Amino acid sequence: MTAPDIPAPNSRPHLLDPAFDLPAWLKAAGQPAWRGKSIRGWLHGRRAESFADMTDLPASLRTRLEAETAIWTTSVARHQQADDGTEKLLLELHDGQRIECVLLRDGIRRTVCISSQVGCAMGCVFCASGLDGVVRNLTTGEIIEQLLRLARLLPADERLSHIVVMGMGEPLANLDRLLPALAAAQEPDGLGISQRRITISTVGLPQAIDRLSTENPGYHLAVSLHAAEDPLRTQLVPVNKSIGVDAVLAAADRYWQVSGRRLTFEYVLLGNLNDSPDHARALATLLGRRAALVNVIPYNAVAGLPWEEPSDRSRERFLEILRTAEVNVQVRRRKGSRIDAACGQLRRLAAQQPVTIGNRPSDRPKDEHRQQHHSEDAAEPG
Ligand code: SAH
Repeated sequence: MTAPDIPAPNSRPHLLDPAFDLPAWLKAAGQPAWRGKSIRGWLHGRRAESFADMTDLPASLRTRLEAETAIWTTSVARHQQADDGTEKLLLELHDGQRIECVLLRDGIRRTVCISSQVGCAMGCVFCASGLDGVVRNLTTGEIIEQLLRLARLLPADERLSHIVVMGMGEPLANLDRLLPALAAAQEPDGLGISQRRITISTVGLPQAIDRLSTENPGYHLAVSLHAAEDPLRTQLVPVNKSIGVDAVLAAADRYWQVSGRRLTFEYVLLGNLNDSPDHARALATLLGRRAALVNVIPYNAVAGLPWEEPSDRSRERFLEILRTAEVNVQVRRRKGSRIDAACGQLRRLAAQQPVTIGNRPSDRPKDEHRQQHHSEDAAEPG
């Protein structure tokens, strides 16, 4: 279940990665430590693209930084925009791997959906991200880079408001790299996004949930349940075999007790698979009177996979049973449906065809897949 780590680029250290000791570097360069704060402020808060933008730094320092460090380690392999304001970046990493991240606009919300790994080891049978397994963990710097690149898509008078870690990968399998990135996102002179507006979505790894409960219970936790009973959950989410629904719920409950934050349970609704009235009743019984929200996500077809989208009738029936049982439930709205805003899908598609930089909907291939799961509904209002 653990993903290999790929060493950092063997060229220059990544300035955006907190693992790079900028104060020590500055000291060695004969510079005061406070410049570190200034440089980070330029990059995280003031959207500087390059050292040349950092006009209050001495020119000689800018030249040295330029020569000895790197701000960006990724390149934009593709940039897509949908009519509803959703924008998606396919980023190429220094080792040629590709990841996806998305900006969603909804009212005044500006939510970003970011990836935590290249690929995924969890093997959920309906998900495009894990079809080829996991390649590696993302570094903290690569996670931060997604946030900063997406923030730069906004006009100067707009800020990111929410983060959902719902892109490629299992975030709780890469907590060591993710948590410092999410801490950076909260810095007041950086993106300044409060912890309450950050959602971590997990397949449900009890030990890692417990670690989060102990170290960092302020995040909004979304647990991908998809079935109330073990045989079906194991069929859909193979990693469940060695965990089990009870252990997932027990860990989620412990998190809720410590955090006091309402939990979200995600339920991908698959036609004729987990969408029957019995499935809805089993889910209502399982969740009982927990202070939880069930986020029903109608399955979005992934090319080559045999699963069906749920019919309108089965979806409404499913929701009705939950509502009657007084379970808080919402259906996730679709966003960015024209631009393959489905993490894992664009990467696979792009691997099969030449990539154009700055692709827009008008010059996109017509055989695109549809959106899978990006939504800002998962982030609690706040
Ligand atoms: N590994 C994390 C993050 C995954 S993506 C997790 O399992 O939660 C976020 C959500 O999208 C998960 O609930 C995932 O099951 C769901 N998802 C994946 N593929 C989907 C598809 N084809 N249609 C609808 N939802 C999908």
